[in-house]
Amino acid sequence: MNAFEWVNATTVDEAIGQLGAASLLKAGGVDVLDRLKEGLDAPPRLVNIRTVKGLDRIEGDAATGLRIGPLVTLAALDVHPVVRKSFVALADAAGHAATPQIRNMATAGGNLLQRPRCWYFRSRDFHCLKKGGDTCFSQHGENQYHAIFGNEICAIVHPSALGTALVALGGSVELASSRGKRIVLAEQFFLPPAAALERENGLAEDELLTAIVVPPLGASARSAYTKVGEKESFDWPIAEVAAVVERSGANVSRASIVLGAAAPVPHRATAAEKLLAGKPLTRETARAAARAAIEGATPLSENRYKVTLFENVVRRTLLDAGGVR
Ligand SMILES: Cc1cc2nc3c(=O)[nH]c(=O)nc-3n(C[C@H](O)[C@H](O)[C@H](O)COP(=O)(O)OP(=O)(O)OC[C@H]3O[C@@H](n4cnc5c(N)ncnc54)[C@H](O)[C@@H]3O)c2cc1C
Repeated sequence: MNAFEWVNATTVDEAIGQLGAASLLKAGGVDVLDRLKEGLDAPPRLVNIRTVKGLDRIEGDAATGLRIGPLVTLAALDVHPVVRKSFVALADAAGHAATPQIRNMATAGGNLLQRPRCWYFRSRDFHCLKKGGDTCFSQHGENQYHAIFGNEICAIVHPSALGTALVALGGSVELASSRGKRIVLAEQFFLPPAAALERENGLAEDELLTAIVVPPLGASARSAYTKVGEKESFDWPIAEVAAVVERSGANVSRASIVLGAAAPVPHRATAAEKLLAGKPLTRETARAAARAAIEGATPLSENRYKVTLFENVVRRTLLDAGGVR
């Protein structure tokens, strides 16, 4: 790990004033610390934003939607009464990530902006495409946890559980810099390798993520999230799905189905969403939608099992969101 200057920012403006090529911003530090130790980052300056006041609040309710401060921890999101009751996918995504200790440190903003866990990207020994090299080693290497969609250039999977839930819920991020503020839909914020090979999102070097915005769900809408990992105690998912099901009478009027750990960005299952619209949610339609969700998958040499796994996780999550027992 390199020697660096440490700065405690106490206001948003102070934090923004410290941003730039020479700085790395630290929230909970779970990912940042790993990256420093792995030699992935060696910044001259670390800007600690945990000392910024007022960024750790959850405001709003089911009727207005939520405004979540970037320093809200995963643990706080998991147990917040409004999030838990009305935005179940978000609460469960937060509550199933990592371990209780990590959830107490890890922030919502840091979770969305953490870097990928691909072992080639994380290892000093591999100068992969994402680090400016000319090879994606996972294409012909150890790829059992890698992407099954959108993997032709770089096969990372997006690491953020909150990202998966946020895209399903139609959420946005608020980004602030000395140039002002902008709101970006989560679905457009995360960028595939073809759009940005060396980063995973549209955050500019001089921007701070200042809020996560979740719109209200319709009165008949319910959401659910399922994570499958190799072990329950702590792990990144090998498959995760967030779904929102909205009904008009007996039929689904709108379904939002997003697969995490499936692609370099949270992956929307558009064909499955279309298939459900206008139909009742039953075991049969959920099964058909799950089949549609995996159409077009391009598994690599060692991750074909994820295709079947996702088919099952999509079906289970839809039944859960729809309250079909
Ligand atoms: C054993 C283990 C298991 C895990 N399992 C899961 C899992 O199942 N699901 C999951 O989603 N994650 C999982 N994680 C990852 C963990 O949740 C993230 O590392 C954590 O959420 C990052 O949050 P942080 O506050 O510590 O971010 P930091 O490490 O402080 O920051 C992460 C990145 O975000 C940037 N950043 C942070 N906040 C802001 C901001 N407000 N504005 C601009 N940039 C910002 C930082 O500069 C940095 O690049 C796991 C981690 C471990 C160690």
